[in-house]
Amino acid sequence: MIEDQENLEEEETEEELAPAVDMGIVAIECADCGRPLLNMLKVRDTEDVSKIKVICINKRCGPDGERGESWVHELQGHYFHSTIKKRDIITSMVEEDGIMVIRMDKT
Ligand SMILES: [Zn+2]
Repeated sequence: MIEDQENLEEEETEEELAPAVDMGIVAIECADCGRPLLNMLKVRDTEDVSKIKVICINKRCGPDGERGESWVHELQGHYFHSTIKKRDIITSMVEEDGIMVIRMDKT
C-alpha cells in the first residue's frame, strides 16, 4: 500500500511541471525574499528584447529595510504578464534607463 502511494505522488509532480516549461512561462520573484511576483507568459517569438525588473510587494524585505526587488530579466519575444496571487496588483510600469520597472501592491 505504501509503495503505491509514493508512485502516485511522483506522477502528479511530473504532470504539474511539464506544461509550464512548454508554454514558456518565466516566473519573476524577489531576489531578496524569494516571493513570486509576476509570471511572464511568452505568446510570440519576435526579435524584441525587453529588460524588466519587479519591485517586491513586501515593504521591508530589502537589505536597507526597504522593498526588495527582482533581478533584471532579459526577455526575448512577446509576453503577457499576470500576477500570481489573487490580491496582487500592478501599480505602475515605468521605463528607467532602458529597464521596465514594475511596481506592485496588495489590494
Ligand atoms: Zn521581497
